[in-house]
Parts: sequence; structure tokens; C-alpha cells
Amino acid sequence: MSVKLLLSCLLLGEVQALSGNFWHITDLHWDHTYELTDNPELVCESSGTSPAANAGKFGDYACDSPWNLINSSVYAMKEILPDPDFIVWTGDDTPHIPNEDLGENAVLSIVGNLTHIIQQVFPGTKVYSALGNHDYHPKSQLPAGPNYIYNQTAMLWQDWLEPESQRTFREGGYYTEKLLSRTGYRMLVLNTNLYYDQNKLTVDMEDPAGQFSWADQVLTDAANDKEKVYIIGHVPPGFFEKKRLKSWYRSKFNQKYLDLIQKHHSVIFGQFFGHHHTDSFRMFYNSKDSPISTMFLSPGVTPWKTTLPGVVDGANNPGIRVFEYDTQTLLVKDVVTYYLNLTRANVAGGRWEKEYRLTESFKVADASPASMHHVLERIANSHCYLQKYYEFNSVNYDLTECDSNCRTDHVCAAREVDFKMYENCLKEGGAAAIHGGWLPILSVALSLVLVSR
Ligand SMILES: [Zn+2]
Ligand SMILES: [Zn+2]
Repeated sequence: MSVKLLLSCLLLGEVQALSGNFWHITDLHWDHTYELTDNPELVCESSGTSPAANAGKFGDYACDSPWNLINSSVYAMKEILPDPDFIVWTGDDTPHIPNEDLGENAVLSIVGNLTHIIQQVFPGTKVYSALGNHDYHPKSQLPAGPNYIYNQTAMLWQDWLEPESQRTFREGGYYTEKLLSRTGYRMLVLNTNLYYDQNKLTVDMEDPAGQFSWADQVLTDAANDKEKVYIIGHVPPGFFEKKRLKSWYRSKFNQKYLDLIQKHHSVIFGQFFGHHHTDSFRMFYNSKDSPISTMFLSPGVTPWKTTLPGVVDGANNPGIRVFEYDTQTLLVKDVVTYYLNLTRANVAGGRWEKEYRLTESFKVADASPASMHHVLERIANSHCYLQKYYEFNSVNYDLTECDSNCRTDHVCAAREVDFKMYENCLKEGGAAAIHGGWLPILSVALSLVLVSR
């Protein structure tokens, strides 16, 4: 081997060593009542009053996931990327059925079954697991202190949790650890269900379970120790892009979350959340309108059509996602989403395929906050990119055209996590001038000139 070739091989080896990847799965929502019958109204309890018209082995858009879909998704992960550095799992395991039909032990048994299959298929892989609002009974009522379910879940996850994590998890459903036990790297797992406006137990609290002050301390220490941090959680701050003005957090908690990120953004290299079941992202900016952080919202495994009033046809295809990252800097380099076309799967078998790679589809260098800001500007200013983003948003389920109202909803939700700023963005129809300087205005002006010719 020539010296030159040897050198380039060595360099290549080094580059490859810097690159790692991890899975993010979320919102599996196993419906244990799913059963194929001749009566579409009796297929699954999670369809409520709407019939499961196209029920098949892998599910129906009206229903939460049958076990076959759960099984297929976990084995697809194993086939696509069998040896990830770690797995991020951001909760919501139980079906959308009334509280009366679940109960503490039913919830725990569902969480236990999903934990078991992930552990069985990925033995020895570190899993960072966050609670969803459906991982409690009654749903969304997660307490700001110790309780039976936090305790039992800590036991189910004991192989994944260090002793100190077990302790804080039992106290408030959150924990932090060195990322893969590496000095200089940290994972912060939040229980943001405490901030959910459906949670009646935390309504009068300023800092439920002391999580904000704890996270503030963790991130302050991280800065002192020169650590780089990933944050994961279930319910995201900001707004739902599929329904105008629909937010999840109580206003005071939304502000506190935003303050936390703005204060500590220099150590935070990614935020990974679920709950929407859709594929989207949220940008965080500093006071000078520079992008400082991105929250990636990964699509759910459940295809369940949301019953949230005002959302038209809010189902999705099942999605799972690989993040590629730089193991030294924790920079998110790329995002690759895989999916199952449910209609096709029920006819032709469960073949998971690549949906898209972020850098290819949006022509950016990586998934850094600066690049994600470019992605957002492209979506805001080009119908072609908007439409592409929109189809990915439901994991290729809703292929209708995203009109200007739709554009405003998606762009403002992605751009503004702050309640007031979001409303201002709506008023301006998602005009591109708020963050990002003059270039977008120029391009809009130019396109107007071109149109008027
Ligand atoms: Zn969910
Ligand atoms: Zn949820």
C-alpha cells in the first residue's frame, strides 16, 4: 500500500470513528384489544366510534398499534441498524381508550411488554427512556412526587438506569446520566408531563417535582465540567403544527422551559421529543435572532388518527428514526426516517423502507441549529420544500396540498415556541422576516416581482 493510500485510509478511519448513530422511537401506543373481525367497529377499542375500515395484520389508521406492528417496528430497527450506540424511547405506550378500561396494573403491564421486547431484541444496548402522558393511570395525571407507577417503572427499567437515576426517577420521573458513561457527555431525561395543561395535579405549582431547578443545576454543572448534553422528553413546549393555537404546556411552564434552553443552549446539542406522532421540529433563537437549538419531533409508531377537534384526517404512517451524530461534538449530522406504508403492508407484508434523509431532501450540510434554520427558511419560502416537509409531517399519509393557511400553521409552530411570538407570527401569516434577516424578504420580494411580470 502506498503511503498516500495508507494515509487516506487512516484519515477515513478517523472520520468514521467520529460518527455515531442512535435510534429514536416514540408513541408506540400498543392496543392490546386489536383483533381482526368482520365488524369494523369491533376491531379495536382505540378507534372509539369510528370504524376500522381497512384493518389488516399491521393495523388500521383508526386504531393504535396491534402487537404485529410493535413487533415489526422493533425488528425493523434490528435489521436496519442492529448495533446503535444507544436508543432513545420517548414514551406513550398504552392505547387511546378510556381510563376505566385501563388501570394502574394494565398500564404497567403494557409498559412492561414493550420494555421486554426492546430488551430482547437489543440486549446490552443502552436505552434512555422517558415517560409519556399515556404511561400513567389516570392518563396525563403524573404526580410531582413519589408514587406506585414511578416506582414500578423504575424497576422495569432497572437494567437501563444507574442507581442515582433510579432515585430521581422514583421522586419525579426524571434522571440524568453521563451519556454512555463517557466523561464530557450527558443525557438529560425530563418528565415534561408535569407541564402538560391536562395534568390537574401540577396546576398550582411553580416548579413541579423541583424539575426546573434540578435541570438548571444539572446544566450549570455541565457547563462547569465542559460537558455536552442531549435532552429527551415526551410532551414538547410550543404549539401543535396541525391545529392553530393548540399548545400543550401551561403558559408559565412554557416560558420556564424556553428560559432554561436560552440560558444553557451552549451545552445543549439536541432535544428529542415525541407526543405529536408527526415529523416536525422546533427552533430556539437567542435575543439576536440567531438559531441556538433545535428540538426534533419524531413521528410515532402508532398510525392512530387523532380525535383532537379541528384536525382534519390526522393519521400517519408508522415511523422510526436514526440520528447520525458526531461522537466528539454531539453535533447532529443527519436524520434518517424509516416508515411502513400501512396500506401496502396490510396487502403485501411489513416491509419498512427509508422515507428520507434530511440533508438530501432539504439540501443542508447537517442538522445543526443553523442548518435547521435554513430548512425552516426553505419551507417558509418555497412551495416545493413546504410540500415535501408537509408530506413527511404525516410520514407520507396525507399527500394533499399544503395551502397558505397550512404553511402559516407549520412555519409559525416550528419557528416560535414562545406563546406571544407564535401569535405574532400568525398575524403576519408566517412571513419570513421575524428570524433570519433580510435574505428571505428579498427572495419573497423577488418572487413577487417575478409573479407580477
Ligand atoms: Zn402519543
Ligand atoms: Zn403523548
